[in-house]
Amino acid sequence: MEKVQLEQRAAELNKVLTQYGHEYYDLDAPTVPDAIYDQLMKELIEIEEEYPDLRFPDSPTQRVGGQTLTAFEKVTHDHPMLSLGDTFSEEDVRAFDERVRQNIGDNFRYVCELKIDGLAISLKYVDGVFVQGATRGNGTIGENITENLKTVRSVPLRLTKPVTLEARGECYMPKRSFNNLNKERAEREENLFANPRNAAAGSLRQLDPKIAASRNLSTFMYALGTNGEEFGLTCHSDALDFLEELGFRSNHERRICTSLDEVFAYIEEWTEKRPTLPYEIDGIVIKVDDYDQQQELGNTVKVPRWSIAYKFPAEEVVTKVLDIDLTV
Ligand code: NAD
Repeated sequence: MEKVQLEQRAAELNKVLTQYGHEYYDLDAPTVPDAIYDQLMKELIEIEEEYPDLRFPDSPTQRVGGQTLTAFEKVTHDHPMLSLGDTFSEEDVRAFDERVRQNIGDNFRYVCELKIDGLAISLKYVDGVFVQGATRGNGTIGENITENLKTVRSVPLRLTKPVTLEARGECYMPKRSFNNLNKERAEREENLFANPRNAAAGSLRQLDPKIAASRNLSTFMYALGTNGEEFGLTCHSDALDFLEELGFRSNHERRICTSLDEVFAYIEEWTEKRPTLPYEIDGIVIKVDDYDQQQELGNTVKVPRWSIAYKFPAEEVVTKVLDIDLTV
């Protein structure tokens, strides 16, 4: 395509991705499958990489999440809550691994985890007592959903130690609860939730905590808000054990991998075993374990450079995406 056509296409993609993002993040009601969003986003990233001057300052490729338009009080995160870079193929994962090796050499290990398809949350504790729960929002400012999170049984109201910290993780709706909820909604002739992720987000962003309480939500916590130095932690995998010790629920399917072959074996295993899980996952997250090495690799404005998400192939059939007329 000529540059002038690409400019037009980039403008259309910006517009339509912003609209889809609003429906997904702010309204919890997507109108297109994730695979279509991902494919259009990939197209925009490729255009912007080829012609950086076509990257609008407000491009969705540069922003995390939505707009935090709800009636909830706003919360400014102490440290930004980033998204994750996406990969869709073995080739992309190899390219990520090469970038990591170019920067920190070959002496490192990965932690592979399931990518839970829920809503990112931040939980704050002072002297071991739960004081604030928030959504990721746009990464800098989230929504204060403390009262709703208090109703989630796996969120400890008091930790086993009187520590002051922020824990981060995913709040999700188990498959069975999602199916029951949609069945009840169908009986009442109410709109159905598109998937468990949107159902979890929609439940947590209700002003009445009784609704969240009735939705059988759960959590897996996967990070501290800081790099854990104050607790003598030096790597991510130790932080996950520490979170468990404190009373949080973390996902036990994680695995330390010392080679790319082990990473691919993990991906293959979970691609197969995914349907057997009682909750939805939409990929695998691959993280460099050591905190110093993470810091060396750093972050972009939107994603860490020490971690990547491998997304499972779409279950929906996505055809003719590139033919979509975005102007209508
Ligand atoms: P994302 O959901 O693809 O990945 C980042 C998130 O993964 C993190 O914020 C965290 O919440 C989560 N996560 C789950 N398990 C994790 C683990 N073990 N470790 C670390 N993080 C973990 O990124 P996003 O920016 O939240 O959303 C983008 C995705 O949302 C798109 O790829 C698309 O699939 C979907 N989306 C769809 C539409 C639509 O219209 N259908 C619109 C916007 C976004």
